[in-house]
Formats: sequence, structure tokens, C-alpha cells
Amino acid sequence: MSLSSIKGQDKALKIIYGMLTCSRVPSAMLFAGDSGIGKRTAAINFAKALNCQKPLNTIFGPDCCDECASCRSIDAATHPDVKIISSGTEEIKIEQVREVIEMLSMKALLARSRVIIIDNAEQLNNHAANAFLKTLEEPPEDSLVILVSGAPDSLPDTVRSRCMTVRFYPLPPDICREVALDKMDLADIDAAMMLAMGRPGIAISSNYAEDISWFNELLIDMMKCETKAAWQDKNEMRQWLDTAMLMVRDHAVAAITGDEALKSFWKDALPKGLKPNPEILARLFFSLQYIKSRLDFNLNKSITWNYVSSIMRMHASRS
Ligand SMILES: [Zn+2]
Repeated sequence: MSLSSIKGQDKALKIIYGMLTCSRVPSAMLFAGDSGIGKRTAAINFAKALNCQKPLNTIFGPDCCDECASCRSIDAATHPDVKIISSGTEEIKIEQVREVIEMLSMKALLARSRVIIIDNAEQLNNHAANAFLKTLEEPPEDSLVILVSGAPDSLPDTVRSRCMTVRFYPLPPDICREVALDKMDLADIDAAMMLAMGRPGIAISSNYAEDISWFNELLIDMMKCETKAAWQDKNEMRQWLDTAMLMVRDHAVAAITGDEALKSFWKDALPKGLKPNPEILARLFFSLQYIKSRLDFNLNKSITWNYVSSIMRMHASRS
């Protein structure tokens, strides 16, 4: 893969190509935007383009060849001067940060630019983030740290302010579909696209049937004021609220347009008592959106569950 094969992120890529063209790259960057839209892929291919042994001159700007020893070793995560820290939903610990700080303090073995990519950087714990501050402030020469985050507001201000932020955005439906098309079963793609909301990585990695079933089970419990099946963690809260907003929005659109495909897709997920009234659904949508926007403030799970439950039932009683 190369930078030019990344779809739908023209603004972010324009910034990256501009840096490569002028050979002016900041020492710390933050790739920010929703999960599953290409931030990590862009970071890896930026590292490849910076160190490629046979760089290509494309119409967009310099790009990696994807074939030389440097490009292949970065893809295989075996390059000695390019390291990716990826912790998934686990906390990134101070030991992992110390390891990369030590790596940056030594002379590069092969690379022109040493690159550290920290995926899910919002998982940096406080100690790890503090340990990083000095490196971000006084970076070693020819080094680049790229923080990749789907929740950049969760990063300490002191870290965020030391990075140049490049924003990534969800993809338009046709491009999202194009990206997912060769990695998915064709039979699943339409339903998966509806749930993914412009995030092809989410469409490819998730099982939409299981996701919808999980969403419905929690919704039914919520409407019955049950609490036993509440979300396990913040990621589940975010995923459930995303799906709830999509469900509410689609019911509103279907009520206005009479779209039978939308009605049929969500047929089991209209909460009992909630009529497809566009005005009420719009109010419910904005309430859910507001709650989602507060997730980064470490909302208490059970209080949030009870609050979401109450607004769902309140809107159902109004319709
Ligand atoms: Zn190359």
C-alpha cells in the first residue's frame, strides 16, 4: 500500500504530501478522527514515504514505492527505526514509552527519519503521557512521533498542544463502499455500510448481525429499566450510542421518505412506544449526540445508562 492508495482523505493527504514535497516535517503530529477511517494506515505509509529507498513522484507528491527493503520492513513491523505501539483498548504503560524514548536517543540504524507511531494514543496513561512531554518538546533530530487517536480530546492538553494536528473524516458512502468492497462478503456489505457510518475499517472488522443483536438486547433491557446488561466500557458506550443515533436518524428519514429498506433494516429496533415521528426523533437524536460528546469526560457507566434509558422512555411516551 502507499499514500496514494488511501481513499477519501484528500485534505489530510494534501498536508502530508506538502510536508514530503518541502522536506519539512514536524517532530510531533496527531492524526485525529473516528476509528476505522485510515489514520493508522496513513501514519504507516507516511513513515514509508519518509524512508523509502526508491520514492515515487506521483501527481499528488512524493510517495513510497511499497517494494523496497525499507517499505517492506516497515509493513512487517521489523524496521529497527520505525516502531508502532498498538495497545488496542489496553492502557499504554510508561515502560512502553520509555522504550521508544530510548530508541529515539540512539543513532538511527537504517532510516533517514526515525518514526514512532502510537496507535490509540488516548490510552496513554498519565505517567506515560508525562514521560513523553520532554521528547515532544525537545525531539531528537530527524525523528517523528505520530499519535493516532479516535478520541483526541482524551489526551492531556500538554501532549496535544505539542503536536501538529491533522484531521481525518468519515468517508462518503460511495468511497466507504469502494474501500470495503474487496475485503468483505458482497452479501453483507449494504447492511455493514449502514452501520459503519463512513468508517470502512469498522465495516470490515465488525460482524453487523452480532452488533445489531447486541444493540437490540441492550435497548430492550433499557426500555424495561433493566440495568444488568449495561455497557462494559467506554468503547461499548460509544458503539451503542453510535448505533442508537443511526437507528433514530434512519427511523426519522424513513418516516419522511417512506424508505422501505430503512424501515425493514431497523424493524426490530424501534423502542416500544416510540412512534416514527420525525420531530420527536430529531430531539432524541440530538440528546443522544450530546451524551456521546460528553463520553470523553469519563461519564459514570451506570448513571449514563440510567440517563439514556430515561430520555429514551421519555421520548417514547411523547410520541
Ligand atoms: Zn520503498
